[in-house]
Amino acid sequence: MQGKIIKVAGPLIVAENMADCKMYDVVRVSDERLIGEVIELRGDKASIQVYEETSGLGVGENVYSTGFPLSVELAPGLIESIFDGIQRPLNKLYEASGDRIGRGIDIPSLDHSKIWEFEPIVKEGDVVEGGDVIGTVQETEVVLHKIMVPYGVKGKVVSIKKGEYNIDDVICVVDDNGVKKEICMLQRWPVRKGRPYKSKLAPNRPMVTGQRVIDTLFPVARGGVAAVPGPFGSGKTVVQHQLAKWADADIIVYIGCGERGNEMTDVLNEFPELVDPRTGKPLMKRTVLIANTSDMPVAAREASIYTGITIAEYFRDMGYNVAIMADSTSRWAEALREMSGRLEEMPGEEGYPAYLSSRLAEFYERAGIVKVLGKEDKEGSVTAIGAVSPPGGDLSEPVSQATLRIVKVFWGLSASLAYKRHFPAIDWLTSYSLYIDRLGEWFNDNVNGGWNALRAKAIRILQEEAELDEIVRLVGIDALSSEDRMVMEVAKSLREDYLHQNAFHDVDTYASLNKQYRMLKLILMSYDEGLRALEKDVDIEDVLEMKVREKIGRSKYIEEANIASFDDIEKELTAEVNELIAKGEL
Ligand code: ADP
Ligand code: MG
Repeated sequence: MQGKIIKVAGPLIVAENMADCKMYDVVRVSDERLIGEVIELRGDKASIQVYEETSGLGVGENVYSTGFPLSVELAPGLIESIFDGIQRPLNKLYEASGDRIGRGIDIPSLDHSKIWEFEPIVKEGDVVEGGDVIGTVQETEVVLHKIMVPYGVKGKVVSIKKGEYNIDDVICVVDDNGVKKEICMLQRWPVRKGRPYKSKLAPNRPMVTGQRVIDTLFPVARGGVAAVPGPFGSGKTVVQHQLAKWADADIIVYIGCGERGNEMTDVLNEFPELVDPRTGKPLMKRTVLIANTSDMPVAAREASIYTGITIAEYFRDMGYNVAIMADSTSRWAEALREMSGRLEEMPGEEGYPAYLSSRLAEFYERAGIVKVLGKEDKEGSVTAIGAVSPPGGDLSEPVSQATLRIVKVFWGLSASLAYKRHFPAIDWLTSYSLYIDRLGEWFNDNVNGGWNALRAKAIRILQEEAELDEIVRLVGIDALSSEDRMVMEVAKSLREDYLHQNAFHDVDTYASLNKQYRMLKLILMSYDEGLRALEKDVDIEDVLEMKVREKIGRSKYIEEANIASFDDIEKELTAEVNELIAKGEL
């Protein structure tokens, strides 16, 4: 029996005679063959979200089943690609249809005719299983694409090729219990299902970002999950871009759900311009970009985060560390809300469906550090960072609340810090990282044994400042003791010299962990040395006016190659305090 449309409601259509379909199967709608996905089945009636403009569709038109779930193509050619939410290559779409994306266009996600140089690793007679790497393709200058045995295939290699092949060519044949299985470079995987792995591991090391407030105060683990909530203009996109550029991840998957009309255009223009500081080459050479432009139906936005994380898992399975960013998940949630409204489901809080939390979790839970499939003992990770844009910055709204219940790191951007142009505007009093206990040891072992003590001291001083601020507001700065004024002074230095970090300054944009340690040590040393002076009856005003203060303030501009100059500033600090004390003793 032929499926027929019985109702059209914007991006949602309902069709009958659909009993042969399964949930999340892809269907083609009308003779224009628009792409849709079954999102609800009742008897022989299917609700279908359509990933293309539905205007002009009418009751009675045909709906064709494909029998396959919404899937992505995984093979060489992913890197440097720009896809829409259902992995259609954007530039090909525009080429095929001009400014506005046309409908029912059948363009494969990847280029199937492109020839790649395949270098085998296994030989005839080797026994392989799902996840084993049978060979490699140098996909870009910086990414070595590993071709893996598909999940479920196991057996002896009967033949293996070497040389120039496209992604559909058979490059390997495996004898799986008497059945000959042909392997090509291309794999397909349904986006709504996590790719398998051997076991999940506990996160045990940070993903280093070079952003001081993040690495020092609120680090995210490799394989961890973090959220960046903040109102419009508070710096969410800049944070995400900084992480894409600087985080020590091998592969970046960036999902843009534009906030403003032209923001996605900006991403499409800017991202390909970004230079990878690690290689000096374009950042795109290790990036997959998924762009939800404003002229695309909301349904594609809903699928985009699953498309993105499936691609991320695929590179994880090769043993890579992948970072995935979604900016912003609030726009994604709005798409979910709209589809739920069309389905006439019982609305939950603020119109979002009751399953908002579980859908968000289905995304974030696919992050993690894992032992990947295959005979080799190998780890890979996916670290997920989602921006959230609560209307008016009010975190009590459903998307923020649902996100905060899932993620382990919260980088709360504050409108007032952004207004004062303190960037990144991550509020040090409300933000947190639940990984800190696990990662503390790593920092002590790998950066400096004093790391955790310094971090704790910095946090204490910043908290004391917040309390003292109250007193100052009530009775004025003169009411404070010299020691308290010293706290205020060092807290200011921590904020302005340390936590403040200019993303657009050549040197300041990134600080190695060693530099972070040296800066923090210097600033906290200025506190201890200040107290030493006060104990010897040096006037607080004299302490606050020390010449070395300016050098401390400028230490963020010290280049990594000149790290040794921190020694000089420390010596100068001690000498100047000694001088003040000596003067007082005269
Ligand atoms: P959002 O995505 O939250 O709307 P953006 O990331 O676009 O906000 O940031 C808005 C503006 O704030 C940027 O254009 C930039 O001028 C400034 N800004 C944000 N973060 C930084 C930073 N780390 N360093 C310097 N400027 C920043
Ligand atoms: Mg933004």
